[in-house]
Amino acid sequence: MPEPYDGSQSVVVVGRGPAALTAAIALAQGGLTTALAGKPPSKSDNRTTALLAGSVTALDTLGVWNLCAAHAAPLKVMRIVDDTGRLWRAPEVMFQASEIGLDTFGYNIENRYLTDALEQRARGLPGLHIIDDEVLSAGEDGRTVAVKTRDGGILRAALVIGADGRNSICRTAAGIGTDERRYPQVALTLCVRHSRPHQYTSTEFHTRTGPFTLVPLPGERSSVVWVLDRASAEHNAALDDAELAREIERASHSIVGKIEVEPKRGRFPLHVATARRFADKRIALVGEAAHVIPPIGAQGLNMGLRDAATISEVAIAAHRNGLDIGNPDVLARYETMRQADVRSRTLAVDLLNRTLLSDFLPAQGMRGLGLYLIDRIGPLRRAVMREGLGPATRQPRLMRGEAL
Ligand SMILES: Cc1cc2nc3c(=O)[nH]c(=O)nc-3n(C[C@H](O)[C@H](O)[C@H](O)COP(=O)(O)OP(=O)(O)OC[C@H]3O[C@@H](n4cnc5c(N)ncnc54)[C@H](O)[C@@H]3O)c2cc1C
Repeated sequence: MPEPYDGSQSVVVVGRGPAALTAAIALAQGGLTTALAGKPPSKSDNRTTALLAGSVTALDTLGVWNLCAAHAAPLKVMRIVDDTGRLWRAPEVMFQASEIGLDTFGYNIENRYLTDALEQRARGLPGLHIIDDEVLSAGEDGRTVAVKTRDGGILRAALVIGADGRNSICRTAAGIGTDERRYPQVALTLCVRHSRPHQYTSTEFHTRTGPFTLVPLPGERSSVVWVLDRASAEHNAALDDAELAREIERASHSIVGKIEVEPKRGRFPLHVATARRFADKRIALVGEAAHVIPPIGAQGLNMGLRDAATISEVAIAAHRNGLDIGNPDVLARYETMRQADVRSRTLAVDLLNRTLLSDFLPAQGMRGLGLYLIDRIGPLRRAVMREGLGPATRQPRLMRGEAL
């Protein structure tokens, strides 16, 4: 049985993924009594995450980045190559971090190293109570929320952060529905070794089934995210190592030379889902509990970390002003601060994915024209790069390197 946890000014974070851990660390560091409830993450996740500059700054500010930086590779150049073979083909577009005065757009890191670093930091914080258990329900109960865990424990908090992933029970408990669309695609993920250096360049080949992306890892290694129709994803996942290496070399046009595949292959059906609201009934949703998008343009967890940073900033400010941290104004402020960022990026990724799948000439023309303009017009290209890194208007304080 967990220790009783009863606090009118405390927070329960539900989940154990990167969004939950980041929120819990930020809240505990900001002086709020915080509990984190969730099962430790599975070791089978072979994905990597391209963390953009703001996310890296936030993790650094929280004392996490120094625990995993040695396992991350800088992303200095991002290339988009039209490999659709269609009539309307876009020019190749090359984004260089140096063009906007940065050394790097961010870093790519294997998820296992990122979550290990977050776990290590979380365990070192005295104000953070970690409960290795699943949450069964959460319900508003006067000025607190009662959170029930599988082994019978009840946690009470003024504010619950639902960071429990795409099938969030916190979202259901808050009575929030989602707008969803399923795509006929699956992302096949794996890591590879190659004979030529990647030069810290991430290359996204746009194909008729979706993007095929090679993202640098330290040394002569890269991660592969290959978006395919379902049958091809099944077929490729079942190939032996030598056959799959040949297919990857073909799809990558041998830009990093000879390929050797590493163990573990993941498959992730693509879908988009956005919660209709991000908070209600003293429950705020962060990460994939609030929004799921296809893995195009490295936006998913970067948005999730901005959610975690924002709700922590708003709740800590309320606490310092002597206010109830779960009151409707706090939730409304969080909602307002996150809506535009999430909705605009979800729309952009959804549109791009649909134009790749579409045989409709005007849709292909639109994508081609967009990339042509980005390639030719320097100020537009630089604006796109800056916007890709995060919202131009207001980044959460942690993303600007300010402690909460
Ligand atoms: C192929 C692929 C590549 C990607 N690449 C990138 C990238 O390069 N950059 C990027 O920014 N994003 C990327 N993403 C998106 C990113 O992986 C997700 O946004 C991120 O993993 C979501 O993190 P999360 O913490 O919100 O959810 P999750 O990682 O799903 O964590 C949810 C957690 O909640 C826990 N949980 C669930 N139910 C309960 C419960 N009832 N009680 C307690 N705990 C519970 C689970 O055990 C889990 O620990 C990629 C996604 C895919 C599919």
